[in-house]
Amino acid sequence: MSTSRVPAIGIDLGTTYSCVAVWQHNRIEIIANDQDVKRLIGRKASDKIVQEDMKLWSFKVIAGTDDKPKIAVTYKNEAKEFVAEEISSMVLAKMKGIAETFLGTRVEQAVITVPAYFNDSQRQSTKDAAMVAGLEVLRMIHEPTAAAIAYALDKRADVDGKMNVLVFDLGGGTFDVSVLTIDDEGVIEVKATGGDTHLGGEDFDNRMVNYFVNEFKRKHNADISKNQKALGRLRVQCERAKRTISTAFQTTIDIDCLFDGIDFSATFTRAKFEEVNMVFFKKCMDAVKTCLADVKMSKDSIDEVVLVGGSTRIPKIQELLQELFDGKLLCQQINPDEAVAYGAGILAANLSGVGDETVQALALIDITPLSLGVGCEKDVMAVLIPKNSPIPIKKEKTFCPAYDNQTSVTILVYQGERSKCTGNHLLSQFRLSGLPSALRGEVKINVCFEIDANGILQVSAKETTKGSNSAIKITNNDSLTREEIMKMIEDAERYKLEDEAHMEKERAHTDLTNHACKLRTKIKDYKVRMKLRKTGFSVKDFEAIDQQIEEAIKWLDEHPHVNFDELEDKELELNAIADLLS
Ligand code: AMP
Repeated sequence: MSTSRVPAIGIDLGTTYSCVAVWQHNRIEIIANDQDVKRLIGRKASDKIVQEDMKLWSFKVIAGTDDKPKIAVTYKNEAKEFVAEEISSMVLAKMKGIAETFLGTRVEQAVITVPAYFNDSQRQSTKDAAMVAGLEVLRMIHEPTAAAIAYALDKRADVDGKMNVLVFDLGGGTFDVSVLTIDDEGVIEVKATGGDTHLGGEDFDNRMVNYFVNEFKRKHNADISKNQKALGRLRVQCERAKRTISTAFQTTIDIDCLFDGIDFSATFTRAKFEEVNMVFFKKCMDAVKTCLADVKMSKDSIDEVVLVGGSTRIPKIQELLQELFDGKLLCQQINPDEAVAYGAGILAANLSGVGDETVQALALIDITPLSLGVGCEKDVMAVLIPKNSPIPIKKEKTFCPAYDNQTSVTILVYQGERSKCTGNHLLSQFRLSGLPSALRGEVKINVCFEIDANGILQVSAKETTKGSNSAIKITNNDSLTREEIMKMIEDAERYKLEDEAHMEKERAHTDLTNHACKLRTKIKDYKVRMKLRKTGFSVKDFEAIDQQIEEAIKWLDEHPHVNFDELEDKELELNAIADLLS
């Protein structure tokens, strides 16, 4: 079926708010979202609202562990169950419906945005969710990248050669920062991405609520901190006040009968707001610095700083950012609430072959936000695809089994920035069996990682000596939360020195073991033996060397955590043998 005439839509699948965009009448239309679509997420299956909504849905909702709602569907004759938070399929179905009503036509394809720190399984889940909602995913892109597309389309005419752009995206619950280049041909290249999964407007509201809880205590000698209803009413007023002081210098909060019949009234200044939230603002600036350092760019090389997300309306955020960039004017031309959907809509038009010349010229190079690798002996992570690598990408590496006569290996696929596997996230594991029985070092396994344009990883492994075995595995559905991912990155920074020392020692141990194995293979080689015989080597000499090498290998196997001095002694011993054999 041809879908070229059916418009593809762009969906901002947000954490607090979702939005849909489509190319129509030679421009992008942002279609109003008439309902809170997060009705299921975070609710119990037995919840009245869920029970009522269920009647309207075409899929079955069942209660999972802890009464968490799960969606049950049949796809290709296979029963599948999805957890609501992970897949958001009803959100996508709703977005599709909104677009179809607006356009008066069927919609079958979409570009969907996901947070930059979504891991592989979360992306796969989102893709599955779209499938359940009846949408083919043309591409999944990161939210800041979508914002950059919106910006680039506006700006392209002014670009002379290449320009470097930093997108600062601070929303309600999350913070993303990305560095990109845009060129006058329409190529947008993401260079680095970073941020904080647990930082946004809601944190600022919480600080205000805490401040007023203390004020209430001081003024009325009453504690409202255990009263959910009072706290809820206070929170709503705080959020409102926060918005007001983005333009005014002070505001008042008035709540009738807040607690125990007491009316609450207080003034709140912009200065107080900044004081209670400064620690968060500084965190944002630190993330910007880290992102620049990751891409080895100085702040002077950034031509434009683009603001996205409702919380970038806070004057102090703008002031600190401007200060960081030595007074550079910040770009607020694009609507922060709609930029992500707008960018997704443009890419949807581009990929489905609609839109004007500028839209069609657009080309996007995105990156992978976390390193991917294989778990090796001694808890060492061998990175195949480093963080911030452009996607799609394919990388291969050769590994050897750790023991002699090992006929199967388990390939462990990790994601994260720690050099120790245990500090990273195990995405998947699978077994490669039927390896030829041989000495260690003689069997080679080629592991291949491939990430597609949607950021989805596929891993395969093949024994190359005989070429007889291969195994392919797509990573499992074990999702990480954004908080877990950020914690992993923070831990990676914290444990960097400790990890590096561990890595260095483990690498030295592995190198020496490989060295010994190579010597063993060499001394067993008939031609080498013949050559040595001619130089006066006796059978007894060979036996002595064989034994020395076997003992060295045994010692290394039995002492996986020796210190550098001990390794050095063993290395000298093996080097002496290597000299004899050379
Ligand atoms: P987003 O997720 O991009 O829609 O951003 C939503 C967040 O932006 C919420 O925490 C809002 O409270 C916050 N926000 C929206 N407008 C303003 C404003 N004028 N000043 C401060 N924060 C705002």
